[in-house]
Amino acid sequence: MATIKATCPMCGDVDLTPRQVRVRVVEALEESHSRRTYAFGCPTCHEDVEKPADEEVVRLLVSAGVVVHRVPVPAEARERHDGGPLGYDDLLDLVLWLETHDAIVEDVAPARGR
Ligand SMILES: [Zn+2]
Repeated sequence: MATIKATCPMCGDVDLTPRQVRVRVVEALEESHSRRTYAFGCPTCHEDVEKPADEEVVRLLVSAGVVVHRVPVPAEARERHDGGPLGYDDLLDLVLWLETHDAIVEDVAPARGR
């Protein structure tokens, strides 16, 4: 089993197994903006340590057997949206509309059979 050397801010260099290291990649719409970190519990002082990682560090940790936890971009972020952002007037219109409508689904759902 591979030994991974990492540095704890309190203890200095420590040896870890791949199971003791966690890699997390929070995906962004553009891969270059994804946020990558690796983390471990220090075997000496038991503090949790998390550090940023570039693509090369992630690749090396994966090749050593560390499992990557990927946090995907929500599907909504990839949707195409038209029009401007909602403003206060839009929100007030919605609140006024909600005050006079009890059955929202009937008004919002597409009409059936048309
Ligand atoms: Zn430590």
